[in-house]
Amino acid sequence: MHRPDPHSYYDSVQPRARRLRLKLGVDFAAKRIDGEVALEFGEAVSGVLDLDTKGLEILGAQVPGQGPIPWELGEADSVLGRRLRVTMPDGTREVTVRYRTAPDAMALQWLDPQQTEGKVAPYLFSQCQQIHARTMVPCQDTPIARVSYQAEVTVPEGLTAVMSAGPDGDEATGDGRHTFRFTMPQPIPTYLLALAVGRLESRDLSPRSRVWAEPETVASAAWEFAGVEEMIVKAEGLFGPYPWDRYDMLVLPPSFPYGGMENPRMTFLTPTLLAGDRSLVDVVAHELAHSWTGNLVTNASMEHFWLNEGFTVWAERKILRTLHGDDAAALGWATGQKALEDSLERFKKEPHLTVLRMHLEGIDPDDAFSSIPYEKGARLVAALEAHVGEDRFGRFLRDYMDAFRFTSITTEQFCAFVEEQLPGALAAVNAKAYLDEPGMPATAPQFHSAQLDGLTALAEGWAGGQRPTEAQIAAWTPAELLVYLQKLPRQLTQADCAWLDAHFKLMGRGNHEILVEWLTLAAAADYEPAFPRIREVLGRVGRMKYLRPLYGALGQHARTRAVAREIFAAASPGYHGLSRRVVQSVLESYPA
Ligand SMILES: [Zn+2]
Repeated sequence: MHRPDPHSYYDSVQPRARRLRLKLGVDFAAKRIDGEVALEFGEAVSGVLDLDTKGLEILGAQVPGQGPIPWELGEADSVLGRRLRVTMPDGTREVTVRYRTAPDAMALQWLDPQQTEGKVAPYLFSQCQQIHARTMVPCQDTPIARVSYQAEVTVPEGLTAVMSAGPDGDEATGDGRHTFRFTMPQPIPTYLLALAVGRLESRDLSPRSRVWAEPETVASAAWEFAGVEEMIVKAEGLFGPYPWDRYDMLVLPPSFPYGGMENPRMTFLTPTLLAGDRSLVDVVAHELAHSWTGNLVTNASMEHFWLNEGFTVWAERKILRTLHGDDAAALGWATGQKALEDSLERFKKEPHLTVLRMHLEGIDPDDAFSSIPYEKGARLVAALEAHVGEDRFGRFLRDYMDAFRFTSITTEQFCAFVEEQLPGALAAVNAKAYLDEPGMPATAPQFHSAQLDGLTALAEGWAGGQRPTEAQIAAWTPAELLVYLQKLPRQLTQADCAWLDAHFKLMGRGNHEILVEWLTLAAAADYEPAFPRIREVLGRVGRMKYLRPLYGALGQHARTRAVAREIFAAASPGYHGLSRRVVQSVLESYPA
């Protein structure tokens, strides 16, 4: 037995599935998927096969032509779920498992019509990262066991299904339902399996890109993301030709727990990016960059998550720089620095979660999730680039993509490759301090620009009475205002809040980065005029990035703690399970 991923029952001594064929029946009334998966091995195999499942009801397993085969479910583990062990006779080329998902499957969020933009039809979306594919499909749920897939998804007539795959036709079933077919020919890690079903429309943005959304939001989504082709071209300049054929995007309802999820051929995005001024498209740059760093070259397990996210944050800022210049990139790094410091503070009693090469045996990867693999990782990549120079690092990146395309690798494999291609570079930047030591190395790169330094000085002068001028207030971009707000003292007075709101008109902002930064300051100050907006945002938006600081700031005062508990009681049925867990952990950290 050899289990290379602490978050999977996958045993590398056993046969490995190469392709999945899925038949999924989406039942909104029962909030479940009636599923059948065929695991194809591409050759004749036999013996024991261990699959990951969590909350799945297994109805039967068989080998086509040979009939039912023995199966058994192991004990439930709170992180891993239950091992499904099937025993395959000689000559097995594929195994079929019939199953049903649980109504509370972590990968699936079922929305009532009221929770959607149109309020007339239900909606379903999946989120399989970190390790939730096993709540949707029995599979070898580790990035090491990459699979291609085909799927047939049957949904109520009038709704549309999309997946992290290419469309392959659709037809009415004749009984009030409709079947959509998909093909993903390239091998992907199972956390990139993705499905959404709802009232969906699309708009073309370029010959290879299209955005999907509910009819009520599709026009504003198409406007917001109109520049995506330019980004694809910039990303190709960094990493080589786009490897996935199409780059489509889906804008989800507001309960989507992340900013974006890089599902190949169908990036999932939060509607909080629809700022109305194209000021938050850096998240699209990020998800697009994952087409290479994460989807093409993938972390072997969540212990090496920084290989996905560190490279992708670095690439996102590189794309930002080529599109909008050095100042814009410096502001991006400054925003990241704030997120990094917040995460280091959050894990100050768990320093083992602040290293890049994590040891997560027995730890739920969702609990280890923070900005650290993103921002500390990006700083290691930037340090390597600064050491060897931009040109040489650019060539290295292309070679890295070529060497490991469509594979899933460990930090050790990455280091061996760097040592071979850029001898001495890891030691020169003290990579060990990033990979294996807590906190940030003192030598980590710092990012400055005159503009950023000016904003920092102005914000630091707040307590001494310094304020931005009318001209500055009028001239700042959303990114400048965001950095300024982030650098203000965390504990403002109510008079400070009134000044900020009056001068920056913060309450009505459509840019949720600015809005939530402002509401976080206002919550910490117990600034009463902001509370209707705080309630509105927390009742509507499920993005974890916003819930954590807002609920955290409400923990400052006895009165606001009571308000937070009351808001959560009302809002939590509409939150995704992942978001609910995050808020619960914040509320539990409140003083008694
Ligand atoms: Zn990412």
